[in-house]
Amino acid sequence: MKIILLGPPGAGKGTQAQILEETYEIKKLSTGDMLREAVAKGTEIGKKAKAVMDRGELVSDDIIIAMIDERISQADCKKGFILDGFPRTVAQAEALDKLLSSKGEKLDKVVEMKVNDKALVDRISNRYSCKKCGAGYNRKFKPTKKEGVCDLCGSTDFLIRDDDKAETVSARLQVYNKQTAPLLPYYRSKGSLAEVDGMADMGEVTRQIKALFLIK
Ligand code: AMP
Repeated sequence: MKIILLGPPGAGKGTQAQILEETYEIKKLSTGDMLREAVAKGTEIGKKAKAVMDRGELVSDDIIIAMIDERISQADCKKGFILDGFPRTVAQAEALDKLLSSKGEKLDKVVEMKVNDKALVDRISNRYSCKKCGAGYNRKFKPTKKEGVCDLCGSTDFLIRDDDKAETVSARLQVYNKQTAPLLPYYRSKGSLAEVDGMADMGEVTRQIKALFLIK
C-alpha cells in the first residue's frame, strides 16, 4: 500500500503515519525526519538544509527527490510506505509519479488531513519527541503515559524541534498554503484524493483513515 498523508504542519501526519506503521507492515517515510537526521550527522545535505529549515522554507526539490528515490528503492519499502511531508510541491508530486511508474507502481491514495490554522499553532507549540527513537508526543493532546518516559523505548531524553518556535511556525504555514496546497487540486484531478477530519481526536482520525482503505 502506498499512501500520502497531506496537510499543513501540525495536522497530525507524523502521528498517524506512526500508528499506521506500527499496525501494518508499511514503512513511514518522513522527509522532515530524514533531513533532521542529516543535520544531526552533519552530512553535506544536512549542511545545505539546516538554514532553510530554520527559516521554515522548503529544501530544494532536487535534494528531496533524490532522497526519496533512494529510500523507496530499499527492501523495507517493498510492501508499501506512508509518505509524511512529501511531496510538498507540484514538481515533487510529478517526480514521484514518474518514479513509481518507472517501477510499474502507483499510489493507492492521498489522504488530506483537514484542520484549522488556529488549532495548528496550538498543536505545534506543544509537541516534542523522543530523542532516542523519534516517537512524537504532545503536552496537551498526547503526553507520554508515564511522565518523562518514552512509551516506546523507555528513554528519558526528549527534544523540541528548532522550527517549532512561534515565529517559524507562521512562515511554515504560509509556505504550506502557497507551495503545498496546490497539490490538493493536482491529486483531486487524478481521482486519488480523500479527506479526513484532522480536528477529530487521534483515534477517530485513525479510524477514518483505515476506513478509506477498508481495513480495521
Ligand atoms: P516536517 O518535519 O515535515 O515539518 O519538515 C521540516 C522541514 O524540513 C520543513 O519545514 C522543510 O524545511 C523541510 N522539508 C521536509 N520535507 C520537505 C519536502 N518534501 N520538500 C522540501 N522541504 C522539506
